[in-house]
Amino acid sequence: MVEDNVKMLKELKKHAKNEKIPIMQDSGLNYLTSFIDNKSIKTVLEIGSAIGYSSIVMALSNQNVIITTIERDEERYLEAVKNIKKFNLENRITIIYKDALDLKLDEKYDLIFIDAAKGQNKKFFEKFMLNLNKDGYIITDNINFHGYTKMNETDIKSKNLRQLVRKIKEYIIFLKENKDYDTEFLNIGDGISITHRKSD
Ligand code: SAH
Ligand code: MG
Repeated sequence: MVEDNVKMLKELKKHAKNEKIPIMQDSGLNYLTSFIDNKSIKTVLEIGSAIGYSSIVMALSNQNVIITTIERDEERYLEAVKNIKKFNLENRITIIYKDALDLKLDEKYDLIFIDAAKGQNKKFFEKFMLNLNKDGYIITDNINFHGYTKMNETDIKSKNLRQLVRKIKEYIIFLKENKDYDTEFLNIGDGISITHRKSD
């Protein structure tokens, strides 16, 4: 990677940390970028851009990849637009300012990366599986949710948190029991799942 880019990425990561913007952890991103290389992924749809960090890392790591990313928060969207410009990636990253659940998309993608509101994973999955290429993959981030999904529910004091964790666990079961898709769960970063349509 060009030295300038490495430096700018470091700054972006520091900024995200300071502002408590939940960008993907390095280990998860390393996995994601090697996955893109290994599977020769050409097109990515990302749900949840935040400030564009993961999109930018994916685009920089592979010159052939084209990304569409969706963000519903105006402030973050505007920051992402600025960052994508800074890295000169406007030609390969398209950002859409909208709630992903309200978006109509016709295109199909090789990889769909779900990294938005954790309680809505199943909704995102069911909506966007229609946008998945036949041999495509769906990767979901934060499956472990800081370890909470592996904890006893009674040990989680906050009701909101408990409800969110329950939703993520339901999503895990939904993936495990899905007859049309195979899913692998990895304890990388904050936990990721890799889902692939079963061949017919
Ligand atoms: N992928 C980013 C981090 C995303 S954080 C990275 O690793 O760099 C999750 C983001 O998803 C937040 O900015 C939040 O505003 C956005 N989000 C949550 N629900 C959404 C929805 N329904 N549609 C679009 N964006 C959503
Ligand atoms: Mg995440």
